[in-house]
Amino acid sequence: MPVLTPTDFTLIVGFVLVGGLLVQLTLLLVDSLRSAAHARSARARELERLELDIRAARLRIQSAEQERTAWSGVRKFTVAKKIPECADTYSFELTPHDRRPIPGFKPGQYLTFQLTLPGLAKPIIRCYSLSDCSRPNHYRVTIKRCPPPAGSEHPPGKGSSFFCDSVAQGDILDVKAPAGHFYLDLEKETPTVLISGGVGITPMIAMAHALIEARSNREVWFFFGSRNSEDHMLRAETLALTSKYPNLKLHICYSRPGKNDRLGHDFQHEGRVTVDLMKSLLPSQNYHFYLCGPGAFMESITDDLRTWGVPDAAVHFEAFGPASVKKAAKPDMKKSLTSAPFTAKVITFAKSGLSTEWSPEHATLLDAADACGVRIEAGCRAGNCGACLVAIKSGEVEYLNEHGADAEPGSCLACICKPKGALTLDA
Ligand SMILES: Cc1cc2nc3c(=O)[nH]c(=O)nc-3n(C[C@H](O)[C@H](O)[C@H](O)COP(=O)(O)OP(=O)(O)OC[C@H]3O[C@@H](n4cnc5c(N)ncnc54)[C@H](O)[C@@H]3O)c2cc1C
Repeated sequence: MPVLTPTDFTLIVGFVLVGGLLVQLTLLLVDSLRSAAHARSARARELERLELDIRAARLRIQSAEQERTAWSGVRKFTVAKKIPECADTYSFELTPHDRRPIPGFKPGQYLTFQLTLPGLAKPIIRCYSLSDCSRPNHYRVTIKRCPPPAGSEHPPGKGSSFFCDSVAQGDILDVKAPAGHFYLDLEKETPTVLISGGVGITPMIAMAHALIEARSNREVWFFFGSRNSEDHMLRAETLALTSKYPNLKLHICYSRPGKNDRLGHDFQHEGRVTVDLMKSLLPSQNYHFYLCGPGAFMESITDDLRTWGVPDAAVHFEAFGPASVKKAAKPDMKKSLTSAPFTAKVITFAKSGLSTEWSPEHATLLDAADACGVRIEAGCRAGNCGACLVAIKSGEVEYLNEHGADAEPGSCLACICKPKGALTLDA
């Protein structure tokens, strides 16, 4: 066994001491790096919370401002710009004729127009979603001519054709204040799926713009379907969204792509927007789903989302036309509805001289009137525009939702009411 000299011994002790020191230094370094990282992430969390608080405060101020500056009845707006978008579709920028401030709105809300059309005795009421987020000086709506039902000889829609053919820059229109219960809550950061078909893109693009403006961090998927790029309204704006909002995953579906539409470049999927497509892309169904589009599209998507296990409370929708999505009764409930003894409630439409039995299949009095061919004017179908206000001659009604429009005693908003018993309406 080798004998250690005093020098060796000093060297060994030196190495041990230096080694110990190095270990201590490394531990100190790791510890201080760890606490710096911890402090950094605590600061980041604090900043995030502060940002959310600031955003919530700003939204509350906007909301109070919206209430303060909202107007009742109609207000005159000038068409500042009429912008051709794609086939039979125009955007309209509207500025207040009185040049006074205009209220902001929640992304997804709409304006109601009272249109005086040549040759019609009464003005007609039509609603159009705000297609941009709140701007201080103007509103924007985007309107597509409503074509006649396939194979029918009827003329295209009156209101939308009036906008496309007759309304011009400088014209003055009668407009009701922004309204509607279908909107994105910007105070939350809930992961969101926006789904739209055709003209249903208008509230969705407003929602996407609002998320960008709010510098939201939420995860957003945006599924949009149309026939092809020629039918894709606000196309350039839709495509630009992803560069402005890195958390947004855009999926454009063309059912009949044009010859210049390139898969992977102009659109991502050939076919329609379906829940099967979402299942193949989304990591789970834990999202809030916002839908807007043609009636059949909405019905199939809402049914398939329910089958996928998405709770009704996480599905939000706006129907643009007479086809309104009814939250389907659960199968067992459906059975009990049809087997339950049903007390007949007869609805009489006095002016038309018609009557019908209320059936659980009718969602509202407006549906019952439609079903037996009685014409009641309708706009928003949500109790906000007041177009369906009808006098009650006898009987009582029950309101299904809160309503924005006033309904004086003795009248009801047919689009959101059902009868309590036998009922006679002045329609
Ligand atoms: C909340 C809300 C938001 C909306 N947002 C938008 C939007 O952003 N952009 C947009 O473009 N639209 C939007 N709409 C739809 C819009 O309000 C109108 O419903 C749409 O423009 C059609 O109105 P119209 O007057 O052109 O058609 P209407 O004159 O009401 O006609 C409707 C349909 O009936 C057909 N028809 C005509 N005559 C007959 C007849 N004798 N018998 C049977 N059928 C007939 C027409 O061809 C047409 O297909 C929205 C609707 C709501 C409720």
